[in-house]
Amino acid sequence: MQHVLENVATASRAEPLSGEERVRLAAMLEENKKLAQLYCTGCAYCMPCPSNVDIPGNFTAMNYYWIYGLKEYVQHAYARLGRHKVEGEAIPARAASCLECGPCEEKCPQHIPTMAQIKEVEAALGQP
Ligand code: SF4
Ligand code: SF4
Repeated sequence: MQHVLENVATASRAEPLSGEERVRLAAMLEENKKLAQLYCTGCAYCMPCPSNVDIPGNFTAMNYYWIYGLKEYVQHAYARLGRHKVEGEAIPARAASCLECGPCEEKCPQHIPTMAQIKEVEAALGQP
């Protein structure tokens, strides 16, 4: 209820936003843009990947980097992705293994450009 009252009070203001408020608003919009950049729900409809790339896992790591800025932590998590086991065998699960074959993109209900985003993950989180 308190939020509703605050929203009504804000929407009812007759005076324009101050310079400081405009700056803060612009900063918040930029933050929201970052969130919208990669709205992966983790549904895994894009899987399986013929190259065994863990697509939702990669995007989760990237979201942690973009949203929380935890680069070092996320780089470690990203490095661990390649160590997942399937039927006793280590599989290449990081974005670097992407073959750019494309079926994941067609299957994504969020219409995420997965191939381009996967490349960004590797560029941002791949170890030098
Ligand atoms: S484009 Fe890359 S991530 Fe998508 S299915 Fe092909 S190899 Fe896997
Ligand atoms: S299908 Fe799209 S939203 Fe679902 S896990 Fe794959 S990339 Fe994320």
